[in-house]
This record gives sequence, structure tokens and C-alpha cells, in this order.
Amino acid sequence: MADSGASPRPNRGAGTDPTAGDHLVRIRHIALTALTTATLAHAVPAAAQTLTGEHRQAAERLVDAALTDRTGWERLTEMVDAFGPRLSGSVNLELALDWMLETMEADGLDAVRGEPVMVPHWVRGEESARLVMPRERDLPMLGLGGSVGTPPGGIRAEVLVVSDFAELEARADEARGRIVLFDAPFVSYGLTVQYRTRGAVAAAEAGAVASLIRSVTPHSQQTPHTGVMDYAEGVERIPHAAITVEDAELLHRLQDRGERIEVELRMEAKTLPDAPSRNVMGQVTGWEHPDEVVVLGGHSDSWDVGQGAMDDGGGVLAAWEAVRLMKALGLRPRRTVRAVAWTNEENGLRGGEAYAEDHAEETHVLAIESDGGVFSPEGFGFMGSDAAYAIVREIGALLDGIGAGEITRGGGGADIGPLMRQGVPGMGLQVDSTRYFWFHHTDADTIDKLDPDEFARCVAAMAVMAYLVADLAEPLPR
Ligand SMILES: [Zn+2]
Repeated sequence: MADSGASPRPNRGAGTDPTAGDHLVRIRHIALTALTTATLAHAVPAAAQTLTGEHRQAAERLVDAALTDRTGWERLTEMVDAFGPRLSGSVNLELALDWMLETMEADGLDAVRGEPVMVPHWVRGEESARLVMPRERDLPMLGLGGSVGTPPGGIRAEVLVVSDFAELEARADEARGRIVLFDAPFVSYGLTVQYRTRGAVAAAEAGAVASLIRSVTPHSQQTPHTGVMDYAEGVERIPHAAITVEDAELLHRLQDRGERIEVELRMEAKTLPDAPSRNVMGQVTGWEHPDEVVVLGGHSDSWDVGQGAMDDGGGVLAAWEAVRLMKALGLRPRRTVRAVAWTNEENGLRGGEAYAEDHAEETHVLAIESDGGVFSPEGFGFMGSDAAYAIVREIGALLDGIGAGEITRGGGGADIGPLMRQGVPGMGLQVDSTRYFWFHHTDADTIDKLDPDEFARCVAAMAVMAYLVADLAEPLPR
């Protein structure tokens, strides 16, 4: 973690990917050589053989195009620079969706449309946190999504620092009337994020007047991380915000030395009535089974900080570019391949839910999601039957040359969750996740942290997987 990660192009040095830093042409050469090798390796085997020579040629063409055509990368850059962060309910998000619709039309994609979805509308307003005792310091902070605000004059209170929920329970009698700070070190996103989601409820149950968390990240440069949080029925709704790892540790050390700590918190956050948004999509319609669909995508919305470049502008643009390349190359599969920009993943999941409902009449043969950043791709996590797993592994082997051929058991994503619960096989793009949570939900989630070559390989992986599954002679078995 002490490597070149803080530089604007973090993968250019001691990356873990053997192709990182190489010139595109070299990657392309490696990719094509490996495709040929994969073709030979897979020419003989067994009963599971489902891919034809035409499939392999199509895969080669898609990889070749993805690694040489910069359109998708340039659009990602243009989108995040022009519209910035895209929180549900914001003008930024809807302007970005208008632009996507116009640009997908210009690409000549089929059935381009925006399907209406009502989304939550939370606004941050002005906010600040200030250490006032034992010394003065402005604490970089971000209110958590869905939080209530403070009274206009703010809340000033003594702070109780705890390491986890168990310590809060043990010291509950000290929490009344105070601001509770959860200084929970990062273990994994899944484990540590519970202080963000459930912290306000636990603190309020102990009688606290507000709660703070140590930002959910393994690496910090005084950057606070926002994200969604929950309240519970019957428990008082108190303001809930994130401070930095550095300041959480500072306050903890001060408490350990017996200092009295006071913080003043001001937040204007509030929730407005639901606002209209859209799931935006375009496709290459299948020539044989137009109503059988391989859907792939990411979420168009982001938090209201940074640019939402890795979370999840990159996922949206990679899926869209995969479909655009099929169209541009004249590759029309047997079944429909649809790129979707789902709205409101971050604080509601209304887009993913609406999509599954609105498209219940269609048969989805596979759903693919990219929402872990468009870093160096490693493969896909797959959820489906053994028979389907054997086929997607065969396709994955064609991606070994770009390092994206590993298909593991278990995976999916938040936006395709509602489809998967209907029995649709699901897949999540797996990438080198080393740096993702350094920037996740912060003002530093900006395009300079991403790399065009890594993005190009994500496009290639998504394009090959989606196209070949859509073009199988028989539908991917459930
Ligand atoms: Zn996301």
C-alpha cells in the first residue's frame, strides 16, 4: 500500500498486472497471441465445447477494437468533466442521462430509451465539524446519505470514542447526551461499513445526540468518505457523518490520555420528495431471438462529491462501449445485448428494481454488472448453474490473453440483484480492487485515478462475454 498509489496514474509503476504500463500495441499483441493459443487449447476438448470458430473470430475482433479505439474512454472523461457528480434527484444526473440518450442515438444503437423511475432526493446542504476542545481544529467531514441535519445553530457536545458496537454497549451509560464516534478500523468493506449503515441507530439507542464514524477505507489522506446510512422505526433520528481516519485516531488518542473532547457539528442535510429519473439503455437487437436478452451495465448515479468516475461512470461507459463496438463492427448476435445505466444504486436501488419489474416479460439469459471500478480486469464472478458455469469458463479462456479470464463461483451486483432473485444467471466484473476503496465515495473519485488501458481491457472483457453468451446456439442454461 506504500507504493505509487497516490500518483495520478497509480498503475504505471510497481503494479500487480504484468501488462500494466506496457504500450497498447504490446498489450494488443499479447492479447491476440493468447487468443490464438486459447483457440488451439480449446479446439479439441470434450462435450462442453460450445464455441465455434466464428465465435472466436468475433472475440478477437472485439478485443482488438476495444484495445485500440479510445471512444469509450474519451466519453467517460467528457461525461465526468462536463456533469460532475450525479446524486439521485440532482440536475447533474438528469443532464448526464440526456447526454447519454443523445450519444447512444448518435451511435446508432437500437431501442435507445430512458425508462422513468422515481428516486429518493437527499440534499447535503452546508455542513461542518469542528473540534473545539481540547484544542481547535476544523475536521474534514461528509454527512452520510439520508442523514437528518442538526438544528440551525448546530450541536456542540462532548465526544465518546468507541472502537466498535460492543464497546458502545459496555459504555452505554457514558453515551447519553454525547456525540458518539465509532473509530472502527477497516477490516473489509462488508464488515466495516456496518458502522456507516447502523451507527446512528446504535448511538441513538444509547442516548447520543449525534454520531460520527471513522471513514470506511483502508487508506486515507485526510479524505472523508460518504455513503448511505439507515435509521430504524421507533429510534430517534440523529445526525450521522464521517470524519477522516486521521482525525478519528486523533480523537481516540486524546480520549485515551484523559482529555475532555468537544465537537461542534453543523449539518443542513434533508430529504426532499422523490424526484423523477430514468434507467437509460441502448442495445444491439438479436437477429434470431430478439426477446432473449443479455443485459450488462453499471449505475449512472454517484454520490455528490468527486466525479463518480470509478463509482460508477466507468462501469456504465464500459458496458455502453462494449455494445457500441458490436454495432460498429457489424456483429449482431442471435440474442439481444443491452447496455443499461441503472439510476439510484447508491441510495435506493430504485433503478435496478424498476428494471427487473419493467422487463419481466423478457427472458434474460445473463446479467452482467461492473460496479467495482474499471481497474485492471481479472475476470468475472458468476452465479448460476454448473452447466452454465462450464460455458462461461470456456468463454473466459478467450480472455486469458488480457488477464481477464478467471471465472470464479459467486458474484453479481446490486443492480442486477432483483433479476438474479428471479433466477437469471448473474456476473460481476472482477478487477484489481487494491485502490478502489481508497477513493470510493470521496471527492477524490476523479478520472485521473483511472487508466485508459485498464478501462480498455474492461471493455474487451465485457464485450466478449456478453456477445458470446448472446450468440450461443442454445440459450445459457439456468
Ligand atoms: Zn457503485
